[in-house]
Amino acid sequence: MKFTPFFSLYMPTLTSSFPFLLYSKQPPWLICSPPQSSPITTFNNGSKRTRPFSLFSSSLLLQVSKAKTKQNIHQNFDFFFLFSGRNHFANRWWSKETVAIVTGGNKGIGFSLVKRLAESGLTVILTARDVERGYKAIEQLRNEHGDGDDLHLHFYRLDVSDPASIKTFVSLFEKDFGVLDILVNNAAVSFNEIHENSVEHAETVVKTNFYGPKLLIEALLPMFRQSTSACSRILNITSRLGSINKMRNPKMKEMLLSENLSEEQIEGMVNLFIENVKKGTWKSQGWPEIWTDYAVSKLALNAYSRVLATRYKDCGLRVNCFCPGFTQTSMTRGKGTHTATDAAEVGARLALLPPHQLPTGKFYIGFSPGIVSKL
Ligand code: NAP
Repeated sequence: MKFTPFFSLYMPTLTSSFPFLLYSKQPPWLICSPPQSSPITTFNNGSKRTRPFSLFSSSLLLQVSKAKTKQNIHQNFDFFFLFSGRNHFANRWWSKETVAIVTGGNKGIGFSLVKRLAESGLTVILTARDVERGYKAIEQLRNEHGDGDDLHLHFYRLDVSDPASIKTFVSLFEKDFGVLDILVNNAAVSFNEIHENSVEHAETVVKTNFYGPKLLIEALLPMFRQSTSACSRILNITSRLGSINKMRNPKMKEMLLSENLSEEQIEGMVNLFIENVKKGTWKSQGWPEIWTDYAVSKLALNAYSRVLATRYKDCGLRVNCFCPGFTQTSMTRGKGTHTATDAAEVGARLALLPPHQLPTGKFYIGFSPGIVSKL
């Protein structure tokens, strides 16, 4: 069995013998784990196995012991709980009446997210742009589950790049369900091979990855459940390629970092990018260097998530982003450090965080300790 260098580096299993969190007044602080298993698998040969929790937590231990501020430790502490599996079912706030929508649910991370959420007992709306692929996914999920009738699964067609399809979906959803608790904007496209950077399909990429989730959110906003005991939530699956630090244009970066960032400014940025692409000037304008069109679309979605999080922070709607890391799916031509199931496990935990632990306006970058970044 071959481990990724990251984990082999941190192999010593100091932690399984220390079942407590140790918290001193001075850094470095130390987190120790309970002796239990994490469901996350990270073997780079693609094999699917349960990783011993002590292995995972010893990497966390080394990272956390380097933490220099209390803020850092709190971030790592959240991370610890997120991955430890301790809060997932113990703090179960949902039921089969809880409704979750996942876009692009027919394959990849979206499919695994639907599976995880449905197996957790929620009602899950699997959406896909292709009807046949959508029903096939539902059938596969029911077959894989054994007693598939236990799953509360529904399929609706939804092409997020088509405003008419969004409209039709939302009106059907409103008629059939009327209320929504969780929206996972997962559907996205990239037309690049791993080491390519073509912007040939920039308009489709921006339309699907940024405007798609934005229009869907706007149309579904009135349907989010108002509840005092639980929080409605949006989880946007984005990418670290869309982190603010990937933007090299200083003016644009300043705008993105501004506390007063507006929706109009974000759309202005995206439109300027498309204009640069059409004029053939995009290479010299300081846009992100890797998978530029995809990175701009995810940057815009991250920024929009921040605007929404601020706007709805007092209204019981929490908005967060999650980058699943380099995952073995069609988008990466099967390459990656972990499977879609692994990525979805973390994504589902985030989507299901108990209301008192659920933040808003955070960008979780999966599979690396200290995972919260600025949106
Ligand atoms: P994937 O296997 O290619 O799945 C993408 C899904 O999105 C498919 O179900 C696809 O449907 C759907 N989709 C594409 N365009 C759509 C549209 N216009 N309307 C509705 N559905 C559409 O990719 P993945 O890796 O699972 O990606 C899932 C999410 O993770 C994406 O947001 C991606 O940006 C993000 N992500 C992935 C990685 C990675 O390494 N894989 C890293 C960072 C972030 P079809 O089958 O019909 O094409």
